[in-house]
Amino acid sequence: MEELNEEDDKKLMSGKCPKCNSKHFVEGPSGGLAMNIACENGHRFWFSPPFTSAYQGKIKVERDGDLLRAYF
Ligand SMILES: [Zn+2]
Repeated sequence: MEELNEEDDKKLMSGKCPKCNSKHFVEGPSGGLAMNIACENGHRFWFSPPFTSAYQGKIKVERDGDLLRAYF
């Protein structure tokens, strides 16, 4: 896991992928209040406001019509 810097964390909080600026996210498995999310380009993040989010590398995300299917 790679903790995001303040700028990237703010970007993600505002709904934008800090890696590619995509605004389309899909939710993955969650544990407690923490959530795993991935953007349409497969950038995966650990997301648990107000804590700083972390980048978790790339996963496979496929587009299925209007839906995104992610392989977390
Ligand atoms: Zn992205």
